[in-house]
Amino acid sequence: MTSPTTTTTTTMPSSSGTVKTSRYNRRAPMHTLLEHFARCAPAIVCIVITACSRPPQLGADLVVTRANIWTGEPTQPAATALAVVGERIAAIGGDDEIERWRGATTTVIDAGGRRVLPGFNDSHVHLVDGGTQLDNVDLKDAGSPEEFARRIGARARAKPGEWMVGGEWDDQRWTPPQLPTRTLIDDVTNGTPVFVSRYDGHMALANAAALGRAGITERTPDPPGGVIVRDDHGNPTGVLKDAAMDLVTRVIPSSPPEERLRAVKRAMEHAESLGVTSVQDMNPSYDDIAVYADLANRGELTLRIYAAPLETGFYDQAKIGIHRSFGSPWLRLGAVKGYADGSLGSTTAYFFEPYLDAPNTRGLLSGELQPIEHIRTRLMAADRAGLQLCVHAIGDAGISQVLDLFEDVVAANGDRDRRLRIEHAQHIAPKDFDRFASLKVIASVQPYHAIDDGRWAERRIGAERIRTTYAFRTLLDKGVRLALGTDWPVAPLNPLLSLYAATTRATLDGKNPNGWVPEQKIAIGDAVTAYTLGAAFAEFQERDKGTIARGKLADLVILTDDIFTIPAERIKDVRVLTTVVGGKVVYQRKP
Ligand SMILES: [Zn+2]
Repeated sequence: MTSPTTTTTTTMPSSSGTVKTSRYNRRAPMHTLLEHFARCAPAIVCIVITACSRPPQLGADLVVTRANIWTGEPTQPAATALAVVGERIAAIGGDDEIERWRGATTTVIDAGGRRVLPGFNDSHVHLVDGGTQLDNVDLKDAGSPEEFARRIGARARAKPGEWMVGGEWDDQRWTPPQLPTRTLIDDVTNGTPVFVSRYDGHMALANAAALGRAGITERTPDPPGGVIVRDDHGNPTGVLKDAAMDLVTRVIPSSPPEERLRAVKRAMEHAESLGVTSVQDMNPSYDDIAVYADLANRGELTLRIYAAPLETGFYDQAKIGIHRSFGSPWLRLGAVKGYADGSLGSTTAYFFEPYLDAPNTRGLLSGELQPIEHIRTRLMAADRAGLQLCVHAIGDAGISQVLDLFEDVVAANGDRDRRLRIEHAQHIAPKDFDRFASLKVIASVQPYHAIDDGRWAERRIGAERIRTTYAFRTLLDKGVRLALGTDWPVAPLNPLLSLYAATTRATLDGKNPNGWVPEQKIAIGDAVTAYTLGAAFAEFQERDKGTIARGKLADLVILTDDIFTIPAERIKDVRVLTTVVGGKVVYQRKP
């Protein structure tokens, strides 16, 4: 096999059928969004017509030849070549059939026999956080409290006085695992406010300067849905869990629009290099969405975004008639994201029974569910408005509670193709799998968390509960649709690591080479389907994305190796050679 070669110069997407002028006003993002979508719609229609009627002798914009294409389509599962006109696939078949699409200005990619897949669609990311994290202090692999403190100290000296956030620390890497405290870092930060998060985003460590600015003292009560961790004398240690984190985040100045824009651009570059062509962005702020809209209006998005802001603000979308998957192929709205509980790593995922290693707690229902009547009313109203409901639930009782809420929503508003989603769906009570299936709830899951949490989850919840933990095989067997993703920056954005995780379940510590709870492994074909078509279905886009077929958006990835034939343990080392979004080459790996 040879490396893919591209002839004729490839260009990054410029206008892509959207309007170039931007009159976007940061104070009125919804207004700008509507403008973007209104102006996009006619352009989309005309691309479709062009793709269907242009005579082949004029030539395609892009031809991919000598490829080993996995189409994801049951009627034509494999092909060796395809042609793209505009943003969409115009033809797919053998090399000879596609040859006639080659014209004088056609960009030709010779894939050299490599594996081609539909672009990856990550069903659950935090895009701006991810982009920001690429520039933040990196604590994820700090292997000891000393190393953790050293990196924070170095960053504070480099940017004194500037809020230090992100970090993504992992206390489970330390021997023994222990929560950090502010005393570790107070001396080395010298008054620079620090609020660094655990990598799951469900707790964070504040130093004395940050606690001071937030006004948190030993007299501050725990807010509903949150915990201020305290020492034996009742003094805050600096660790704040879930809703308690808001006490500090609300005093951190929000980042200026330029910084947000920079974060989105870095995130897009990162996604391109990993073959991620679509993302479903969970709980973005309206300021984040305004940046996406601005980029979409300028034709500068290289990543398709489905944005699901918090359910508490559902009325902002509902009142102007935005409903599920409203928008253009580049930017869509119409979903809302809720939180039912916390995370396993922070012992805030909500279980029926207590944690084994923290027997005084069974986790926390989120503030949004306290009291439950309020969220029930909001979800019913959001659903009635045609918005899609995506709710984070991790512990078995949290998941059960969300299924109860979904049952109430269906009972109140009647049967419909609504594609309810539970985000994470990590630890499902055996009794709830059938309910999951009968309500047609989509499980939006992140396999990388399984090989990460699998290092220590059994200590925390015991041998029985781990059997239905990250239970991808059981979900598929029950007929539940899976949509794969990463939760980036909680886990790496690289889809190949997630495919490796789903197919091997080999924990990161190397202790389960044959798989942790191996009966829950899934086949590579099922995993790729869930990362492409399953993810597209989860955002109502299966007619436009998720497989390689005539008329669909030309979002493609070329890989160094064939993930369908190599041993599963090698999938993690496979790299992306070329990424195509909307018919444009947006990434080409350097030789
Ligand atoms: Zn998330």
